[in-house]
Amino acid sequence: MDTYKVAIIGAGPSGYFTAQAFQKAQSENLSFAIDLIERLPTPWGLVRSGVAPDHPKIKSVSKVFEKIAREPNFRLFANVELGKDVSLKDLRDQYDVVVLATGASKGRKLGIPGEELKNSLSAAEFVPWYNAHPDFVDVEVDLSCDTAVVIGAGNVAMDVARILAIDPAELDPTDIAEHAIVKLKQSNIRTVIICGRRGPEHAAFTTPELRDLPKLENTDVFINPKQIEDAIKHIEEMYEVEKDLRNNIEAMKAIAEDEKKGVARKLEIKFLSTPIEIKGNGKVEEIVFQRNKVEGGKAIATGETFSIKTGLVITAIGYDSVKYPGVTIEGGRISNIAGHVEHNVYAVGWAKRGPTGVIGTNKSDSTDVVNLIIENLKEPKTSEGVTGLLKSGHEVIDQIAWEKINASEVISGEIAGKPRVKEVDWKQLINLGKTL
Ligand code: NAP
Repeated sequence: MDTYKVAIIGAGPSGYFTAQAFQKAQSENLSFAIDLIERLPTPWGLVRSGVAPDHPKIKSVSKVFEKIAREPNFRLFANVELGKDVSLKDLRDQYDVVVLATGASKGRKLGIPGEELKNSLSAAEFVPWYNAHPDFVDVEVDLSCDTAVVIGAGNVAMDVARILAIDPAELDPTDIAEHAIVKLKQSNIRTVIICGRRGPEHAAFTTPELRDLPKLENTDVFINPKQIEDAIKHIEEMYEVEKDLRNNIEAMKAIAEDEKKGVARKLEIKFLSTPIEIKGNGKVEEIVFQRNKVEGGKAIATGETFSIKTGLVITAIGYDSVKYPGVTIEGGRISNIAGHVEHNVYAVGWAKRGPTGVIGTNKSDSTDVVNLIIENLKEPKTSEGVTGLLKSGHEVIDQIAWEKINASEVISGEIAGKPRVKEVDWKQLINLGKTL
């Protein structure tokens, strides 16, 4: 039987689903030895450091990841960084197949004046900050103002706005970072405004997320009913309207018409507004927008401007893949054709297709790439793999060590009435992995 050595780089959803696709493709004549390599000392990628803490159901996919990890042909090598501890060239030489599942972690920039002011943050910093990512613990977040503005009309903007707008007590039973909940409990923010540059009919939110908004117990959610009326007119003029779009508009109409509770906490979704400047003396004080109309699906400036007094701007307008030696980034993702990068190197997930789709999208995407990989397989190599590449004494977090970290966090969570208490210190995570 031919056994092929596979290195998957990145232990997020697309990495695990790729491992699963290899496991499912095994037969009497074909098998795979899978090494999942991860920079952080913890796996699960965005399921750990991206998914909003108040959406625990989405995180239950981690049970699938752990099942994949317990298969005999799987090994985890966390705390191993591509480009630092191992090079892409060495991995290419050692393995039959290298799959880059490295995601897209760099927040896109607006490119407007004032974007670099203090308290103008990217969701790429703010989300991992509240989700206890070890690299983002020290992000300076000032919540002393009364109004926050979130740029972008997608699910990340919605997550960010919700975390800022809900009563922090609602986050007590979640796995939000300890440092974040302390800050949120001291927050003066009572109004959060999400600003999208086009109309409701172009919003990138998904319907379940919109439908959840009126259910918020301590926050009133507002959308200008006139913007929904206009969007309905626009979609009536369309030749064909997708079901998802109709559902989205219905959900937004329900929000616009929903009777408000009269509570102090407010979340508004404002459309047709493009940010053109962030103003402030050393830190964010105001954001200026151009008012738009939509023509042919594009946001066109009306010539009118308006501004919002705010002390915090968070930009959630998408992500780009990070560059590292040996890969070319084009349009924010790793250059590839249907997942093939070059020779025996492939890409999956956001690294392959850009930052689109929900977690489940990665399953079919990874399966397609694995099918292509199998078509291209040659003679299996005989080599040691990543173990032969690491310096002696390198502290790898393997599956056993990760299970110790996981168990420790879950036990701390049980005591605190939470699903887990995440450890944020890199060294401490490694120590937890060494416990007996
Ligand atoms: P996204 O869905 O692509 O939304 C990005 C938003 O930013 C769009 O409204 C876009 O508007 C806007 N935008 C882009 N460039 C802009 C600019 N220069 N100025 C103003 N606005 C700009 O991206 P995302 O929210 O980062 O989400 C990434 C993926 O993760 C999505 O597939 C999302 O569904 C998924 N996700 C899912 C969940 C969940 O299932 N609960 C949670 C979080 C994320 P235009 O349309 O006009 O370009």
